[in-house]
Amino acid sequence: MRISFDLDDTLFVAEEDGFAVEPPLRFPLNRLFQERLRKGTPELMRRLREAGWEIWIYTTSFRSPFYIRSLFRHYGIPIDEIVNGARHEREVQAEHNDPMPSKYPAHYRIDLHVDDDRSVYQNGAYYGFRVFLIGPPDDEWVEKIMQEAMRRRLPK
Ligand SMILES: [Mg+2]
Repeated sequence: MRISFDLDDTLFVAEEDGFAVEPPLRFPLNRLFQERLRKGTPELMRRLREAGWEIWIYTTSFRSPFYIRSLFRHYGIPIDEIVNGARHEREVQAEHNDPMPSKYPAHYRIDLHVDDDRSVYQNGAYYGFRVFLIGPPDDEWVEKIMQEAMRRRLPK
């Protein structure tokens, strides 16, 4: 099973917006990697991996895969695959004449995508891919995603 996560306002959040966050990396890494992870991200990733999930990042941003992978590695989180804006353009949009949705996890056989953007959720309903919509600060978010992931594993 394969799960993907959006970055901005999903895993990368701002303390100023009221989010609890993971501690910053040690100097000088904190200068290189200024994004702050939503509190509980390493725990969630560890639990998903233990449950057999492959972990992907799917972002419309153009951060490089090297940068993204390095940031998560410093938090002890291995990432299996990264789809950024450039890869999406190349592999999803380029194959279609019609405009495709901003994210199309079904192209990569992703079973569950986590995102804060309601339009991604609506595209999921329209194009037939599963999105867990994550919102503002929520102390239960790790449990909610684990529950959703476990539900996805049940046979239909
Ligand atoms: Mg987002």
